[in-house]
Amino acid sequence: MSKRTLIKNCIPEVGKEVIINGWVQTVRSHGKIAFLDVMDRSAIIQVVCTGEQLGDIRPQFVVSIIGIVANRPEKLINPNISTGGIELQANKINILSKAEELPFDMGSKDLNLQLPTLLDYRALTLKHPKVKMIFKIQSALVKEFRKAAEELECEEVFVSAIASGATEGGAEVFSIDYFGHRAFLTQSPQIYKQIMVGALERVFTIAKAYRAEPSVTTRHLTEATQMDIEMAFVTLEELLDSLEFVGVYMVKNVSEKYENILKEFNVEKPLISSTVPRLTLREAQAIITKRTGRNLSGELDLNPEDEKEICAWGKEEHQSDFVTITHFPTKKRAFYTMPDSNNPEYSLSYDLLFRGIEILSGSQRINEYEQLIESMKNKGVNPEKFNIYTMAFKYGMPPEGGFSFGLERLTMKLLDLQNIREASLFPRDMDRIDERLHPVHK
Ligand code: ATP
Ligand code: MG
Repeated sequence: MSKRTLIKNCIPEVGKEVIINGWVQTVRSHGKIAFLDVMDRSAIIQVVCTGEQLGDIRPQFVVSIIGIVANRPEKLINPNISTGGIELQANKINILSKAEELPFDMGSKDLNLQLPTLLDYRALTLKHPKVKMIFKIQSALVKEFRKAAEELECEEVFVSAIASGATEGGAEVFSIDYFGHRAFLTQSPQIYKQIMVGALERVFTIAKAYRAEPSVTTRHLTEATQMDIEMAFVTLEELLDSLEFVGVYMVKNVSEKYENILKEFNVEKPLISSTVPRLTLREAQAIITKRTGRNLSGELDLNPEDEKEICAWGKEEHQSDFVTITHFPTKKRAFYTMPDSNNPEYSLSYDLLFRGIEILSGSQRINEYEQLIESMKNKGVNPEKFNIYTMAFKYGMPPEGGFSFGLERLTMKLLDLQNIREASLFPRDMDRIDERLHPVHK
C-alpha cells in the first residue's frame, strides 16, 4: 500500500490504513498526545498523534501521513465538516516540506487582516480556506461562461494584449517600449474579437484588459479579466437576449453549485426573475428621479449612486438582481458603437448591472466601412493606426455586436466582497505590482 487517499475519501475507510498528503492547518498539543488538522484539495481531517511524532511540526508544514481511519467518540463528533465523524490515528508522519513560523494566525475561520497586509502576504493568504473559496467561485464562473458561450455556438479565440494603437481611446492606456517603438497594452480585446467575427461569425475570448485608471476605487483594477462574446448577424434584441442568457446562466449555476460557499460569505441567493428588467438610460434616470428627487437631466451616464438606486428598484419591483440599461448617448461610447438610426444622439449600446454595479458593457457595432472611418475621426481616433481593424470592414463585415463581462467585478458582487482586489489573485493597482510601489517609510 503506497497510494495516496484523498481526505474526503477516508470517510468509508474506517478501520483501514491509508496515506494522506496535505498541509497542516492547526496544531493542538497536549503533551503526550497532539491533534493536527490536515487539509488537502478535497477536505480537512483531524489527525491524532503522539507528542514525539509531532516534534516541531507547525502550521503549513507539508506532510504525508500513514495512519488508521477511526470513528471519533460520539461526543467529539464535529457536525460542521464532512469528515467530522472520523479521525486519522497516525502511525508515521513524513515531513515533505517545512514552513516558517507564520506572521499571523491562519487557523481562524476568517482572516482578519487589513487589505494591504492580505496582499503583502498574498502567496500565504491565498492558502486560507475562505480566500480559496473566492477563487473556486471565480473558476466556476469562468467554466459556466465557457459553457454558455458554447451554447451560443461561439468559438474560443486567443488574441494579443499588445497593440500599436489604443483600443478604447482616452488617456487610460499603458504604453510600452516595444524594441524602440511605442506600443500599448490593450484596454480590451475589442478590435481583435470584431475582426474574428468577420472570419468565424461567433467568437468568445477571456482576456486581460489593461487600464491606466489614475483613480483609486474599490471597483477598478489596472489589470482586469474580461469575458467577451462577439456575434455576427444579430439584432440589438438578440444581443440583449444573449447577454442576459449568459449572465443569468453563470450566476444561477454557480450559486446553485456552491450554495455552501455563498452561505460561508453570508450572501443571499441571487434574485433571478424570469426576464431581466430592461430600461433605456432615459427611463432609468426618470425612475431614479422619481425615487430620490435627484435631477439627472443632462447626465450622460449612470454614476455609482445611480447604479445602486436602479438596482434597488429592480429588486423591489421585479425581484431581480440584474437590470439591463440600453441606449447610452453616442458621445459617451467608443467609436465602434452603432448610433440608433431613430435618434443618432443615442446608441445601440447597453450595460448589465448586478447588485448595484456595472458588470458588463457592449453594443451593436458599426459594420459599414465608411461609417466606421467617419466615427473614428469624429472621436479623434486615427484610422491609419488601425489598418488591421479597418481592413476587416473593407472586406465584408456583417451586422454584428457583442459584450464584455468583468470577471473580478462579477466575483466580487456574487460574494459581496468589499473591494475588487480581494477578487483578483494578484491585483495590480496604482500602488502595487505584487509588492507596494511606494513602501511606507518609517
Ligand atoms: P466603469 O465605467 O465601471 O469604469 P467601463 O465602462 O470603463 O467600466 P468597460 O470598458 O465597459 O468598462 O469594460 C467591460 C467590463 O469590464 C465592465 O463592465 C467591468 O465589469 C469590467 N471592467 C472594466 N474596467 C475595469 C477595471 N478597471 N477593473 C475591473 N473591472 C473592469
Ligand atoms: Mg462600461
